[in-house]
Amino acid sequence: MKRLVVAGHFAPGEAVPLSQEQLHYLQTVLRLSPGDKFVLIDQQGQGYLAVLQSEHCHLEMTAAIADNEPQIDVELCLPLLKGDKLEWVIQKSVELGVQRIVLYSAARSVVKVTGSFQRKLARWQTIAVNAVQQCRRTRIPEIVGMKNLEQLPGGDRLSLFAWEEAKDPGLSRLTASVTGALRILVGPEGGLTEEEAEILTQAGWQQVSLGPRILRAETAAIAMLTCVLFAAGELG
Ligand code: SAH
Repeated sequence: MKRLVVAGHFAPGEAVPLSQEQLHYLQTVLRLSPGDKFVLIDQQGQGYLAVLQSEHCHLEMTAAIADNEPQIDVELCLPLLKGDKLEWVIQKSVELGVQRIVLYSAARSVVKVTGSFQRKLARWQTIAVNAVQQCRRTRIPEIVGMKNLEQLPGGDRLSLFAWEEAKDPGLSRLTASVTGALRILVGPEGGLTEEEAEILTQAGWQQVSLGPRILRAETAAIAMLTCVLFAAGELG
């Protein structure tokens, strides 16, 4: 069923006013007509079965629906990436089931933060909302940043960083029984420096290899996320 995310917190039976933009999305983009049902998702990630009542801006929510959220809470730490690669990773990782994306600055990052960062952050958050609607999730992963590498906590949950220099262990050994909460990190196009690997290790992170082939940062992020979600039984 089609999905729409609406800011606010609602209760079944409530009539929810919609903006012109939201109506346009429902009627023109999703091609819904009055009387059609869809899933309305509120800010808290609660999904409701909703009926588009007329061309008026009202919905009638009849029941809360089950969510499709993963049982495992995965936080993905990413550097800024060139071109639209970060947008691609955000979209794909939200589809797969990431709970939070933390952007951090890396020494060898090719892309640097510019003045319009807040606008970019808003755009990335919109990409996350669209991915939630499309993949039938209910919770909108938050995107936070920019953090320095030193600010990334590591000891409070299993925290794994992919390092191209890591010899052993491979990811398969570390994710044999993945439950609860996890944090994963990939480096920038230029790779992580020895110093950065040391900072992460001191903070409680464990280094992992993703195999003998060097992946691009965006490939590494999606491959790593896919592996931990698979290990947690989240990919069927
Ligand atoms: N410029 C580096 C590669 C960076 S790849 C070089 O040529 O050596 C970008 C990031 O993807 C890395 O920092 C790492 O986090 C991850 N990555 C890519 N391939 C990897 C592998 N085989 N094992 C572990 N991490 C990998």
